[in-house]
Order: sequence, then structure tokens, then C-alpha cells
Amino acid sequence: MEPTPSRSAPAPRVLVVEDEPEIAALIAYQLTREGFRVETAANGDQALSVIGREVPDLLVLDRMLPGITGDEILKGLRATASTRHLPVLLLTAKREQEDRIHGLELGADDYLTKPFSPRELVLRVRSILRRAEQGGVEAGGRVLRVGQLVLDEHSHSVSMEGVELSLTPTEFRLLHALMEGRGRTQSRRRLLERAWELGSDVVERLQTRTVDMHVRRLRAKLGAAGDWVETVRGFGYRLKAPDGRS
Ligand code: CA
Repeated sequence: MEPTPSRSAPAPRVLVVEDEPEIAALIAYQLTREGFRVETAANGDQALSVIGREVPDLLVLDRMLPGITGDEILKGLRATASTRHLPVLLLTAKREQEDRIHGLELGADDYLTKPFSPRELVLRVRSILRRAEQGGVEAGGRVLRVGQLVLDEHSHSVSMEGVELSLTPTEFRLLHALMEGRGRTQSRRRLLERAWELGSDVVERLQTRTVDMHVRRLRAKLGAAGDWVETVRGFGYRLKAPDGRS
């Protein structure tokens, strides 16, 4: 059994963006039954107006929408400060590997391929919310330091030479994995499991370029510390100490 939220906390608010009324109704019914507050939007414009009014706790987003597509909505959300961390479960009609990878690259927290069981959807939603609540790392409240690079698990912040960096949740978890394993080489597969927190069945299907692309973005954001993230050819990545020793 999932732990029920404490009585004082309001039920998480989920916005379901889906143009097929039957599917939207099914999702809304299931989530409402499980105690979530649910709103629905049939297209991107409606969704953005709901989000603009009040950012929900989670978005269930269909990729194929009339007008603005789910991908475009997701891209916009990730580029906006107030919604950068908004958890998104992407619904996709296609089974193609490319499609899944693309969704994760755009910054979805997870995805579900249609047709899916309502039970599976609820499990995914709960798992994403739990992860978001914990900031994606164990709530240990530790502060990890490598040179002038500082990651605070509690405040979920990262700074380099005293300047706070703006990382996406995936980049944060990726850096966390690298800093925790400082000096050790970590395979792309391991990084996928850590930073994306995906089951091994999904990891099998993902290509390593997803990791490579996020590492590239992370390096760019880390500034001088970007060089500390070393590529171990044919295997993975390693974060070395600024003085060159591990
Ligand atoms: Ca659709």
C-alpha cells in the first residue's frame, strides 16, 4: 500500500492534458478515485491557461494534441522558471524507441505508452511525485563538495564558486550521481538508472546518447567545473577533483 498523504496536506493537484475525451475521463476518474484533485484540458491553450492560473503539482501530458503539441508545451514549460521543475508524465501513442527517447530528452519525468492500464498510470504518478518531493535524491540533507562546486541535497541547489546554477531535475540528479561517485568511473547505464531513475527494462531501450546529451548540457552549465566531468571512452563518465587527483 502507498502511504496516504498526511491529513493536513492538500491532495496533489494533477492537470490532465488530453484531447480524447474518453481517455481524459478515464484518467480523471482513476486519479480522483485515488484521492488526487484533477483538472482536465483538451488542448494546449487550455492547459497553459490553467497552469498560468496556478501551477499544478503534476502534469499528465498527451504528446499528440491539436494545435500546440505536447512536445511544444513541455519545451515551453522547461524554459520557464516557474514551471521548470513541474513534474510531467508524457503519454505517447507510439512504441518507437526514438519517440521515448525524444520525450525524455525534452525533459519529461516519465512516459507511458498507450494503451496503458489506469493502475499503471497511478503508480507512475505517485512515483514521480515522491521523487519530486525528495528532490530526486535521498533526503539525507547532505552537502556534497568537489572543489568550489557545492551541491546541497536539502535545499536542492548547486553552486559553483558561490554562484548558484540553474539545473533541471535530471541535470541535478546526474551531477549528484557524479559527485557522489567522485573519482569513480560510472557507466552510462548506471548514470541512466541514477539520474533518470528508470527501471532496468527501460534503460535497456534507451540509447547512451541521452546521457551524453545531458552531460554536455551539464558541462556547459558548470562553467570552470565542466572540465572536471571526464569522458571515459567507451564506458561512461567520471568526476575528478579540480587538482587532478580523484
Ligand atoms: Ca491525443
